[in-house]
Amino acid sequence: MRAPNAEVPMAEPIPVFFNEVQLEFRPLYEWAFGERIAHPESTARAEAILAAVERDPGFSVREPGPLPDSALRALHDHHLITLYEAATGWGEGECHPTTFPGLSRFNADPTNLHHAGAWCFDSGTPLSARTLEAARWSAACAKDAARAVMAGAPLAYALSRPPGHHAMKAMFGGYCYINNAALAARTLRRRGPVAVVDIDFHHGNGTQDLFWRDGKVFTASIHGDPAEFYPYFQGLESEQGAARGVGTNLNVALPRGTDGATWLGALDRVVLPRVRAFGPASLVVCAGLDGYKKDPVGGWALETADFAAAGERLGRLGLPTVVVQEGGYYTPHLGRNLTALLHGVRAGQAATR
Ligand SMILES: [Zn+2]
Repeated sequence: MRAPNAEVPMAEPIPVFFNEVQLEFRPLYEWAFGERIAHPESTARAEAILAAVERDPGFSVREPGPLPDSALRALHDHHLITLYEAATGWGEGECHPTTFPGLSRFNADPTNLHHAGAWCFDSGTPLSARTLEAARWSAACAKDAARAVMAGAPLAYALSRPPGHHAMKAMFGGYCYINNAALAARTLRRRGPVAVVDIDFHHGNGTQDLFWRDGKVFTASIHGDPAEFYPYFQGLESEQGAARGVGTNLNVALPRGTDGATWLGALDRVVLPRVRAFGPASLVVCAGLDGYKKDPVGGWALETADFAAAGERLGRLGLPTVVVQEGGYYTPHLGRNLTALLHGVRAGQAATR
């Protein structure tokens, strides 16, 4: 006689990709409206998430394989990667871009770190001798999470840190250097159209930039109103893509104080119907957790249960899914919010089978 639950096989653990080298880059500080503050993008973020997935039997932590320079240069402008390489010789401390040439950037030299502002759009994203290696391994996590999904895993998670969704083709900023989610999407794109859904509190301006003209990758971002929040100059609902990418970029801006009901309602009414209409073969989720009510950087009022509910909705799309870590700065609850999201995705996927 079969056991009562024999027809419900135990799910395989969700693969988590992470490399300790990602912790060697430690940005020290940034200026926040005239005040020097400890840098929010600390190694404690990744350590908190790692601790949470290591104690949960639903996850299995793996090291990604190395990522060659050519993979970084295929995604980003050559000068940007050359600038990061130049920073490996910086020595102690960190370089904060402080001079921004605007439209006069044609004289900039990517081997001269005094010119770093030519490839950067804010003063809060420092370069150090360890930036490139940490960012390279962060990207390798996303690449291998995408490979795991292509090999048959329904869901894989990249514990990417530093984050990536603000990194454009030729510009860095927003604590981001290499666009990890874009690398995952480019990898998955070989199997067919891809949807990227960015639930970070901040607009995914880098991902939007990288796929602006790409009709095979649908990019959606649901974020704090850029009139009030970083990155300020992008993230408007009028930004819909160009050339073959017209209609494949969706921005949903929500006001300060947005709660779970409003956030999930916007996912249900606006974002998810557009994703379904696009007909992707796979999904990348930019998992920013900075919409959490206690987050010191974001401005919303989301609860842990809201991340679970969002995950379940994304899982119900029934797509092979790569979840890539983005922001989230309230370290004590990062682990629980992330595992809630991922268990939600898994539950949603199971419900569609
Ligand atoms: Zn963010």
